[in-house]
Amino acid sequence: MKKNNLKGWGSVAVHSGHQKDPNYAHLTPIYASSTYIFDSAEQGMHRFTGQEKGYIYGRWGSPSITEAEEKIAALETYGTSIEATAILHASGMAAITTLLMSTLSQGDKILSHFSLYGGTDELVHRILPRFGVSAVIEDLRDLEKAESALRQDKSIKMVYLETPANPTIQCVDIAALSALAKKYNCIVACDNTFATPYLQQPFTLGADFIVHSTTKFLNGHGTAIGGALVGKDIERMRGPIYKFHKTTGANSNAFDSFLLVQGMKTLEVRMERHCANAEQVARFLEGHKKVKKVNYTGLSSHPDFAIAAKQMKHPGALLSFEVEGGLQGGIQFMDKLNFCTRAVSLGTCDTLLSHPASMTHFSVPKEEKEKYGITEGLIRMHVGIETVDDIISDLDQALQ
Ligand SMILES: *Cc1c(COP(=O)(O)O)cnc(C)c1O
Repeated sequence: MKKNNLKGWGSVAVHSGHQKDPNYAHLTPIYASSTYIFDSAEQGMHRFTGQEKGYIYGRWGSPSITEAEEKIAALETYGTSIEATAILHASGMAAITTLLMSTLSQGDKILSHFSLYGGTDELVHRILPRFGVSAVIEDLRDLEKAESALRQDKSIKMVYLETPANPTIQCVDIAALSALAKKYNCIVACDNTFATPYLQQPFTLGADFIVHSTTKFLNGHGTAIGGALVGKDIERMRGPIYKFHKTTGANSNAFDSFLLVQGMKTLEVRMERHCANAEQVARFLEGHKKVKKVNYTGLSSHPDFAIAAKQMKHPGALLSFEVEGGLQGGIQFMDKLNFCTRAVSLGTCDTLLSHPASMTHFSVPKEEKEKYGITEGLIRMHVGIETVDDIISDLDQALQ
């Protein structure tokens, strides 16, 4: 939120949000305290009325949480005059739930693309409809389709974007869709988890809200689950949205916030390495005779290559590829991996691979899977920051 005189991206990532500790600890200590004391009844009253700044109760915030929130807001607005504020959550899903439930009401709809994160998909298709909020799903890479949906349905109040997205790394044009949304008086929210503020700044492209699963690249080490909701409308963020978050108990905790703060300090160097490695891995896979197809936005063969190049600094660290032999081929490939890690999730230091057809999407019907581009031999890969030759030689031996 606060703009100071820090110039470089790396400097902001390391220093922003930090407050000098009253006991001179170098890092903000983990405030493992459920409540905060008042020197007098009067001080308690002043904290409650907001006349005096200060913490009151752990569910409403703590210094560890504030530091993480200010750092995220500083990174999402880096290099701009945009003011934004962040609210840290217990998970990415908690942040998305706060966003949707505190900004939408019964009868409202959201417009979104079809390749939503699984939890978000579940929320908008199975949970929110019970409260009268539903989703219109379109292929948002087609701007005409997006506009006709907005024109036809006046109950659409939010355009919800997730770019790049699982599993074929599709991207949608944030600036073009934001401009359309504004024309029809809709708010725009963007899940920026895959790109991180280092690669993509949705606020500069017209988004009103950004959500993150901080579990991924922001934490960067796979040590904690967390989420953030960032918004440009400060009054709304500090008012009804913060109130929703604090009342539903969606808050994070001091330990996870501490880990997140340390992780964010190295985001720039990690992303540079993740992305450089991913580009090399993608090229290796593209040239491999046992690989049928590679989905990576850094390859000109990807349908969203141009959109990614326009709105992202680098094409990112996520890719997917198809091995021969269908389901069995995918399983065999996964079992042969020695060096890389078999796991879902992303954003960790190590390379993670998963096989949607036998894991995350095992119970999804085949036709449904195909709609999302999940073929039986599709492998999803998060490229880590290890020495790239080691990653490539493991893939090579597993493909034999
Ligand atoms: C992981 C993820 C989420 C959910 O975050 P959690 O921290 O697991 O709740 C949401 N969106 C995207 C794009 C994700 O990758």
